[in-house]
Amino acid sequence: MDAATQMPSHPNSVWAATANPRSNLPCLEDDIETEVAIIGGGYSGLSTAHHLSKAGVDCVVIEANDVGWGASGRNGGMAVLRYKKGFSELATLYGDETTHGLYRLVMEAVDTLEGIVREYSIDCGFSRYGHITAANGRKSVESLEADIAWLARRAGDHGARMLDAREMRQMVGTSVYPGGYLDPRAGGVHPLNYARGLGAALHGKGIPIYVSSPVESMERDHGGMVLSTRRGRVYAKKVVVTTNAYTDLMPLGTNLARRIVPVSTSVLATAPLPSELASSILPQGQLVTDNRHLVNYFRMLPGNRLLYGGRGDITGKESPDIYRGLHSMLVSTFPALKDTAIEFHWSGKVAVTLDDFPHFGKLGEKIFYSVGYGGRGVALTNLLGKLLARLVCGEAVDAGPMNKGRFNPIFMHRLRIPGMQMVAGYYGLLDKMERQA
Ligand SMILES: Cc1cc2nc3c(=O)[nH]c(=O)nc-3n(C[C@H](O)[C@H](O)[C@H](O)COP(=O)(O)OP(=O)(O)OC[C@H]3O[C@@H](n4cnc5c(N)ncnc54)[C@H](O)[C@@H]3O)c2cc1C
Repeated sequence: MDAATQMPSHPNSVWAATANPRSNLPCLEDDIETEVAIIGGGYSGLSTAHHLSKAGVDCVVIEANDVGWGASGRNGGMAVLRYKKGFSELATLYGDETTHGLYRLVMEAVDTLEGIVREYSIDCGFSRYGHITAANGRKSVESLEADIAWLARRAGDHGARMLDAREMRQMVGTSVYPGGYLDPRAGGVHPLNYARGLGAALHGKGIPIYVSSPVESMERDHGGMVLSTRRGRVYAKKVVVTTNAYTDLMPLGTNLARRIVPVSTSVLATAPLPSELASSILPQGQLVTDNRHLVNYFRMLPGNRLLYGGRGDITGKESPDIYRGLHSMLVSTFPALKDTAIEFHWSGKVAVTLDDFPHFGKLGEKIFYSVGYGGRGVALTNLLGKLLARLVCGEAVDAGPMNKGRFNPIFMHRLRIPGMQMVAGYYGLLDKMERQA
């Protein structure tokens, strides 16, 4: 059966409006057998399938909605060469050696994304646009300078550099930032086209991808696992769960949903800007994330639209207030856009962890997972898919805190919404104080 007839729609994003057509993928209608069943058709699941198939392992992907329906098809498309915490802070927390390993891994993450795009000639606008981490005040400038110093001293890497307030004005087109950290090697994609392109490439290689097929239960069976969907079952030797912030769509009997906190992030895209105005904002095309605790991110899109994202509603609802708040942040950054129409707004969920790292690993011998990317999954999902595939094949993998760190269910998880409300209030205050310092 063609799954398109029962496909839940993608959000009303600028990405969905400008995406390449989706492939005609089936939904699961039979009982099938495979070595590895991957639950979730976002970047993590698709990258795992790509790397497993390269290792000669038979696998299938089972997706509840559509390929790229989750965060993978609706994000900012920024493949950033930093973690949420800067290198200098990581070195203080984990030591130089571990941080050096993490630095190499994040570099490899963007290379892996680029390698997949090139291997399948995926039409997703991948380019090394460069990424600016915009400082929110003096303290933030100092911490970014410390990252540059750490990179040079400990990794011999001189690829990133600081921008002063004048360069920020020229390169970003706003005077609100006292400085920034530019890494010209960071990449960008059209996120939904990357997900669709990779899904189509894998399907073309003969890797079965079933859409509109939510996995409703996962049980052990005769030394393997059985996944049940509405119309068919998958008998697999091993299962990989890559449902990230959408892990609670179905209770699959793991405690993964309690190890992460799903947090909503919302995005606006303007109408096309007049060319003179457009050329005053990010004239060299870099992607930007600011260094606030409650992060904002933005980039110019083909067709002279500005995409601007930030905090969403904590309860996950899409309230007009959230988009109004985001619009006022946009206007305070770019006052000239006060009267510019907003043509698209949408939201999605990221999965936050206590240590700000994604985590991957095993639950027993047969279930593998990767979750918890926060706002840093565009590149890292590609890497963790590769590392997960190695783990599934029985190789030893060391990705520092991402698979050796503590990753337990969060204490009092059921109170996460009031908890997040308190944290967000506190972070908002810190951001204000840091901007004024
Ligand atoms: C608005 C927004 C902006 C972002 N911007 C950036 C950015 O610029 N840079 C960056 O690095 N990161 C960004 N992120 C984060 C990034 O998009 C994610 O980290 C990444 O896409 C996660 O990919 P994933 O494959 O792990 O999960 P997802 O893409 O969320 O995929 C999970 C999939 O699992 C499926 N699923 C769930 N339950 C079941 C079930 N029971 N059966 C079958 N399927 C199931 C869902 O339908 C979903 O498609 C952003 C996220 C959002 C929401």
